[in-house]
Amino acid sequence: VKRQGGNGFQFYASGQMNAWTREQLEFERDFRLAIENQDKALHVLFQPIVDVQQKRVVHNEVLVRWAHPTRGLLSPGDFIPLAERVGLIGQLGDLVLWISCRIAADLAKVGQAVDISVNVASRQLLHPDFLQKVAGVLERTGLPAGRLMLEITESAVISDLPRAAEALVRLKALGVAIALDDFGTGYSSLSLLRELPLDILKIDKSFIQGIEQDHPGDEKFDFAIARAIIALGDNLGLGVIAEGVETEKHMEFLRKHHCYLQQGYYFSRPLSTTQLMQFMGRPDSIRV
Ligand code: C2E
Ligand code: MG
Ligand code: MG
Ligand code: MG
Repeated sequence: VKRQGGNGFQFYASGQMNAWTREQLEFERDFRLAIENQDKALHVLFQPIVDVQQKRVVHNEVLVRWAHPTRGLLSPGDFIPLAERVGLIGQLGDLVLWISCRIAADLAKVGQAVDISVNVASRQLLHPDFLQKVAGVLERTGLPAGRLMLEITESAVISDLPRAAEALVRLKALGVAIALDDFGTGYSSLSLLRELPLDILKIDKSFIQGIEQDHPGDEKFDFAIARAIIALGDNLGLGVIAEGVETEKHMEFLRKHHCYLQQGYYFSRPLSTTQLMQFMGRPDSIRV
Protein backbone atom coordinates (compact mmCIF):
# COMPACT_ATOMS: atom_id res chain seq x y z
CA VAL A 1 0.00 0.00 0.00
CA LYS A 2 1.37 3.36 -0.97
CA ARG A 3 0.10 6.49 0.71
CA GLN A 4 -0.66 9.30 -1.67
CA GLY A 5 -0.40 12.90 -0.48
CA GLY A 6 -3.22 12.60 2.06
CA ASN A 7 -5.98 12.30 -0.50
CA GLY A 8 -6.20 8.57 -0.81
CA PHE A 9 -4.44 5.28 -1.14
CA GLN A 10 -3.20 3.52 -4.16
CA PHE A 11 -2.99 -0.24 -4.15
CA TYR A 12 -0.38 -2.24 -5.90
CA ALA A 13 -0.41 -5.94 -6.41
CA SER A 14 3.15 -7.02 -5.75
CA GLY A 15 3.78 -7.56 -9.45
CA GLN A 16 2.56 -4.08 -10.32
CA MET A 17 5.26 -2.30 -8.42
CA ASN A 18 7.62 -2.23 -11.32
CA ALA A 19 11.36 -2.23 -11.30
CA TRP A 20 11.57 1.53 -11.80
CA THR A 21 9.37 2.30 -8.80
CA ARG A 22 11.28 -0.11 -6.63
CA GLU A 23 14.55 1.44 -7.66
CA GLN A 24 13.27 4.92 -6.86
CA LEU A 25 12.11 3.84 -3.43
CA GLU A 26 15.44 2.18 -2.72
CA PHE A 27 17.29 5.27 -3.86
CA GLU A 28 15.17 7.43 -1.59
CA ARG A 29 15.74 5.09 1.34
CA ASP A 30 19.51 5.07 0.73
CA PHE A 31 19.55 8.87 0.66
CA ARG A 32 17.52 9.17 3.85
CA LEU A 33 19.95 6.79 5.57
CA ALA A 34 22.99 8.67 4.33
CA ILE A 35 21.56 11.97 5.62
CA GLU A 36 20.42 10.58 8.94
CA ASN A 37 23.69 8.81 9.66
CA GLN A 38 25.64 11.88 8.56
CA ASP A 39 27.31 9.26 6.53
CA LYS A 40 30.86 9.71 5.27
CA ALA A 41 29.40 8.76 1.89
CA LEU A 42 28.01 12.29 1.68
CA HIS A 43 31.09 14.44 1.41
CA VAL A 44 32.27 17.67 -0.11
CA LEU A 45 34.84 18.67 -2.71
CA PHE A 46 36.36 22.12 -3.09
CA GLN A 47 36.85 23.86 -6.42
CA PRO A 48 39.37 26.71 -6.32
CA ILE A 49 38.25 30.13 -7.53
CA VAL A 50 41.37 31.97 -8.57
CA ASP A 51 42.36 35.57 -9.10
CA VAL A 52 44.32 35.41 -12.35
CA GLN A 53 45.84 38.82 -11.75
CA GLN A 54 47.16 38.09 -8.27
CA LYS A 55 47.73 34.41 -9.08
CA ARG A 56 46.12 33.18 -5.91
CA VAL A 57 43.14 31.17 -4.72
CA VAL A 58 40.52 33.57 -3.35
CA HIS A 59 37.57 31.23 -2.64
CA ASN A 60 36.76 27.55 -2.87
CA GLU A 61 33.32 26.45 -3.97
CA VAL A 62 31.97 23.59 -1.91
CA LEU A 63 30.37 20.92 -4.11
CA VAL A 64 28.58 17.98 -2.54
CA ARG A 65 29.09 14.39 -3.67
CA TRP A 66 27.47 11.11 -2.67
CA ALA A 67 29.45 7.90 -2.87
CA HIS A 68 26.51 5.54 -3.32
CA PRO A 69 27.17 1.94 -2.24
CA THR A 70 26.25 0.46 -5.64
CA ARG A 71 25.84 3.37 -8.07
CA GLY A 72 29.26 4.90 -7.53
CA LEU A 73 30.14 8.56 -7.03
CA LEU A 74 27.09 10.72 -7.68
CA SER A 75 26.98 14.41 -8.56
CA PRO A 76 24.38 16.83 -7.18
CA GLY A 77 22.37 16.58 -10.38
CA ASP A 78 21.76 12.91 -9.54
CA PHE A 79 20.32 13.44 -6.06
CA ILE A 80 19.45 17.10 -5.38
CA PRO A 81 16.16 16.80 -7.29
CA LEU A 82 15.34 13.81 -5.06
CA ALA A 83 16.34 15.74 -1.93
CA GLU A 84 14.06 18.62 -3.00
CA ARG A 85 11.18 16.28 -3.77
CA VAL A 86 11.26 14.36 -0.51
CA GLY A 87 11.92 17.41 1.67
CA LEU A 88 15.51 16.57 2.63
CA ILE A 89 17.22 19.47 0.88
CA GLY A 90 17.35 21.48 4.11
CA GLN A 91 19.04 18.64 5.98
CA LEU A 92 21.46 18.09 3.11
CA GLY A 93 22.29 21.80 3.13
CA ASP A 94 22.80 21.85 6.90
CA LEU A 95 25.14 18.88 6.61
CA VAL A 96 27.18 20.45 3.79
CA LEU A 97 27.46 23.75 5.68
CA TRP A 98 28.58 22.00 8.84
CA ILE A 99 31.11 19.70 7.15
CA SER A 100 32.64 22.42 5.00
CA CYS A 101 32.91 25.02 7.77
CA ARG A 102 34.49 22.42 10.04
CA ILE A 103 37.06 21.50 7.40
CA ALA A 104 37.85 25.17 6.72
CA ALA A 105 38.19 25.88 10.45
CA ASP A 106 40.45 22.84 10.91
CA LEU A 107 42.64 23.96 8.02
CA ALA A 108 42.95 27.44 9.53
CA LYS A 109 44.16 25.85 12.78
CA VAL A 110 47.06 24.23 10.93
CA GLY A 111 47.94 27.46 9.16
CA GLN A 112 46.16 26.67 5.87
CA ALA A 113 43.30 29.15 5.92
CA VAL A 114 40.89 28.88 3.00
CA ASP A 115 37.76 30.84 2.14
CA ILE A 116 34.77 28.73 1.20
CA SER A 117 31.67 29.36 -0.87
CA VAL A 118 28.63 27.20 -0.12
CA ASN A 119 25.58 26.72 -2.34
CA VAL A 120 22.29 27.45 -0.60
CA ALA A 121 18.93 26.12 -1.78
CA SER A 122 15.80 28.26 -1.77
CA ARG A 123 14.23 26.17 0.97
CA GLN A 124 17.23 26.78 3.22
CA LEU A 125 17.45 30.51 2.62
CA LEU A 126 13.75 31.05 3.25
CA HIS A 127 13.70 28.89 6.38
CA PRO A 128 13.10 31.08 9.46
CA ASP A 129 15.97 29.42 11.36
CA PHE A 130 18.59 29.72 8.64
CA LEU A 131 20.34 32.75 10.12
CA GLN A 132 20.57 31.02 13.50
CA LYS A 133 21.90 27.89 11.84
CA VAL A 134 24.65 29.74 10.00
CA ALA A 135 25.57 31.73 13.12
CA GLY A 136 25.57 28.49 15.14
CA VAL A 137 27.83 26.65 12.70
CA LEU A 138 30.29 29.56 12.63
CA GLU A 139 30.32 29.70 16.40
CA ARG A 140 30.73 25.96 16.93
CA THR A 141 33.41 25.53 14.30
CA GLY A 142 35.19 28.80 15.07
CA LEU A 143 35.30 29.73 11.40
CA PRO A 144 35.35 33.54 11.04
CA ALA A 145 32.26 34.75 9.12
CA GLY A 146 34.55 36.56 6.69
CA ARG A 147 35.76 33.20 5.39
CA LEU A 148 32.28 32.13 4.33
CA MET A 149 30.41 33.08 1.17
CA LEU A 150 26.93 31.80 0.35
CA GLU A 151 25.81 31.22 -3.23
CA ILE A 152 22.17 31.73 -4.04
CA THR A 153 20.40 31.58 -7.38
CA GLU A 154 17.86 33.87 -8.96
CA SER A 155 15.25 31.14 -8.81
CA ALA A 156 15.92 30.64 -5.10
CA VAL A 157 14.94 34.20 -4.24
CA ILE A 158 12.19 34.82 -6.75
CA SER A 159 9.45 32.88 -4.94
CA ASP A 160 9.57 35.32 -2.01
CA LEU A 161 11.82 38.24 -2.78
CA PRO A 162 11.12 40.38 0.32
CA ARG A 163 11.80 37.47 2.65
CA ALA A 164 14.92 36.41 0.75
CA ALA A 165 16.25 39.98 0.75
CA GLU A 166 15.67 40.30 4.48
CA ALA A 167 17.43 36.99 5.15
CA LEU A 168 20.40 38.10 3.07
CA VAL A 169 20.66 41.46 4.85
CA ARG A 170 20.91 39.63 8.17
CA LEU A 171 23.43 37.13 6.87
CA LYS A 172 25.56 39.98 5.60
CA ALA A 173 25.35 41.62 9.00
CA LEU A 174 26.97 38.45 10.37
CA GLY A 175 29.89 39.12 8.06
CA VAL A 176 29.10 36.46 5.46
CA ALA A 177 29.48 37.36 1.75
CA ILE A 178 26.71 36.71 -0.78
CA ALA A 179 27.11 35.63 -4.40
CA LEU A 180 24.39 35.40 -7.03
CA ASP A 181 25.09 32.12 -8.83
CA ASP A 182 24.33 31.15 -12.45
CA PHE A 183 23.63 34.80 -13.20
CA GLY A 184 21.75 35.40 -16.39
CA THR A 185 20.00 32.03 -16.59
CA GLY A 186 17.06 32.52 -14.21
CA TYR A 187 13.69 33.97 -15.09
CA SER A 188 14.30 37.15 -13.23
CA SER A 189 14.87 40.77 -13.91
CA LEU A 190 17.77 43.09 -13.40
CA SER A 191 15.83 44.84 -10.66
CA LEU A 192 16.81 41.87 -8.46
CA LEU A 193 20.24 43.47 -8.26
CA ARG A 194 18.68 46.49 -6.62
CA GLU A 195 16.75 44.41 -4.08
CA LEU A 196 19.49 42.07 -2.92
CA PRO A 197 22.59 42.91 -0.89
CA LEU A 198 25.12 41.13 -3.08
CA ASP A 199 28.91 41.04 -3.12
CA ILE A 200 29.52 38.88 -6.18
CA LEU A 201 27.90 37.99 -9.50
CA LYS A 202 28.80 34.59 -10.91
CA ILE A 203 28.51 34.46 -14.69
CA ASP A 204 26.87 31.18 -15.60
CA LYS A 205 29.12 28.72 -17.35
CA SER A 206 26.81 28.47 -20.36
CA PHE A 207 27.92 31.97 -21.40
CA ILE A 208 31.58 31.09 -20.98
CA GLN A 209 31.26 27.86 -22.95
CA GLY A 210 30.06 29.86 -25.95
CA ILE A 211 33.38 31.66 -26.12
CA GLU A 212 34.79 29.21 -28.65
CA GLN A 213 35.58 29.54 -32.30
CA ASP A 214 33.74 26.36 -33.25
CA HIS A 215 30.34 27.87 -32.44
CA PRO A 216 30.53 31.05 -34.53
CA GLY A 217 26.77 31.55 -34.33
CA ASP A 218 26.38 31.51 -30.55
CA GLU A 219 29.73 33.10 -29.92
CA LYS A 220 28.60 36.61 -30.70
CA PHE A 221 25.83 36.40 -28.11
CA ASP A 222 27.84 34.68 -25.41
CA PHE A 223 30.71 37.15 -25.82
CA ALA A 224 28.25 39.99 -25.54
CA ILE A 225 26.43 38.56 -22.53
CA ALA A 226 29.64 37.76 -20.65
CA ARG A 227 30.97 41.26 -21.32
CA ALA A 228 27.69 42.87 -20.31
CA ILE A 229 27.66 40.99 -16.98
CA ILE A 230 31.26 41.99 -16.30
CA ALA A 231 30.39 45.64 -16.99
CA LEU A 232 27.24 45.42 -14.90
CA GLY A 233 29.17 44.01 -11.95
CA ASP A 234 31.85 46.69 -12.29
CA ASN A 235 29.30 49.48 -12.47
CA LEU A 236 27.47 48.18 -9.41
CA GLY A 237 30.68 47.72 -7.45
CA LEU A 238 30.26 43.94 -7.29
CA GLY A 239 32.91 41.31 -7.82
CA VAL A 240 32.42 39.10 -10.86
CA ILE A 241 33.36 35.41 -10.97
CA ALA A 242 33.29 33.52 -14.26
CA GLU A 243 32.49 29.81 -13.80
CA GLY A 244 33.10 27.05 -16.32
CA VAL A 245 36.49 28.37 -17.48
CA GLU A 246 37.78 25.36 -19.40
CA THR A 247 40.34 26.66 -21.85
CA GLU A 248 43.14 29.13 -22.18
CA LYS A 249 40.98 31.01 -24.63
CA HIS A 250 38.21 31.40 -22.03
CA MET A 251 40.73 32.59 -19.45
CA GLU A 252 42.31 35.09 -21.83
CA PHE A 253 39.03 36.49 -23.09
CA LEU A 254 37.88 37.08 -19.53
CA ARG A 255 41.17 38.58 -18.43
CA LYS A 256 41.19 40.90 -21.43
CA HIS A 257 37.80 42.15 -20.31
CA HIS A 258 38.95 42.63 -16.72
CA CYS A 259 37.21 39.62 -15.23
CA TYR A 260 39.98 38.30 -12.99
CA LEU A 261 38.05 35.97 -10.70
CA GLN A 262 37.74 32.66 -12.49
CA GLN A 263 36.73 29.08 -11.75
CA GLY A 264 36.76 26.03 -13.97
CA TYR A 265 38.44 22.87 -15.16
CA TYR A 266 41.19 24.93 -16.83
CA PHE A 267 42.52 25.67 -13.34
CA SER A 268 41.21 22.73 -11.40
CA ARG A 269 38.43 20.19 -11.03
CA PRO A 270 36.67 20.02 -7.66
CA LEU A 271 39.26 18.62 -5.20
CA SER A 272 39.40 16.66 -1.97
CA THR A 273 40.88 18.51 1.02
CA THR A 274 44.24 16.81 0.52
CA GLN A 275 44.28 17.65 -3.18
CA LEU A 276 43.32 21.24 -2.41
CA MET A 277 46.26 21.59 -0.03
CA GLN A 278 48.56 20.25 -2.74
CA PHE A 279 47.08 22.67 -5.28
CA MET A 280 47.51 25.63 -2.96
CA GLY A 281 51.02 24.56 -2.07
CA ARG A 282 52.29 24.55 -5.66
CA PRO A 283 53.40 28.00 -6.82
CA ASP A 284 52.77 27.18 -10.48
CA SER A 285 49.31 25.64 -10.13
CA ILE A 286 47.47 28.74 -11.35
CA ARG A 287 48.03 28.69 -15.09
CA VAL A 288 47.81 32.21 -16.45
P1 C2E B 1 26.98 25.47 -9.45
O1 C2E B 1 26.80 26.02 -8.08
O2 C2E B 1 26.80 26.40 -10.59
O3 C2E B 1 28.41 24.78 -9.44
C1 C2E B 1 29.24 24.72 -10.55
C2 C2E B 1 29.13 23.38 -11.25
O4 C2E B 1 29.92 23.45 -12.44
C3 C2E B 1 29.68 22.20 -10.46
O5 C2E B 1 28.96 21.04 -10.83
C4 C2E B 1 31.11 22.11 -10.98
O6 C2E B 1 31.69 20.84 -10.79
C5 C2E B 1 30.89 22.41 -12.43
N1 C2E B 1 32.08 22.94 -13.09
C6 C2E B 1 33.14 23.55 -12.54
N2 C2E B 1 34.03 23.93 -13.46
C7 C2E B 1 33.54 23.54 -14.64
C8 C2E B 1 34.01 23.64 -16.00
O7 C2E B 1 35.07 24.18 -16.29
N3 C2E B 1 33.20 23.13 -16.96
C9 C2E B 1 32.01 22.54 -16.68
N4 C2E B 1 31.29 22.05 -17.69
N5 C2E B 1 31.53 22.42 -15.42
C10 C2E B 1 32.28 22.93 -14.42
P2 C2E B 1 28.42 20.01 -9.75
O8 C2E B 1 29.42 19.80 -8.67
O9 C2E B 1 27.90 18.84 -10.51
O10 C2E B 1 27.21 20.80 -9.12
C11 C2E B 1 26.08 21.11 -9.90
C12 C2E B 1 25.15 22.03 -9.17
O11 C2E B 1 24.62 21.39 -8.01
C13 C2E B 1 25.83 23.29 -8.63
O12 C2E B 1 25.94 24.23 -9.66
C14 C2E B 1 24.86 23.70 -7.55
O13 C2E B 1 23.76 24.40 -8.10
C15 C2E B 1 24.37 22.37 -7.05
N6 C2E B 1 25.06 22.03 -5.80
C16 C2E B 1 26.29 21.51 -5.59
N7 C2E B 1 26.55 21.34 -4.28
C17 C2E B 1 25.44 21.79 -3.63
C18 C2E B 1 25.08 21.89 -2.25
O14 C2E B 1 25.84 21.56 -1.33
N8 C2E B 1 23.83 22.39 -1.98
C19 C2E B 1 22.97 22.80 -2.96
N9 C2E B 1 21.76 23.29 -2.61
N10 C2E B 1 23.28 22.72 -4.26
C20 C2E B 1 24.50 22.22 -4.59
MG1 MG C 1 27.50 27.53 -7.08
MG1 MG D 1 27.23 28.36 -10.62
MG1 MG E 1 26.08 27.08 -13.11
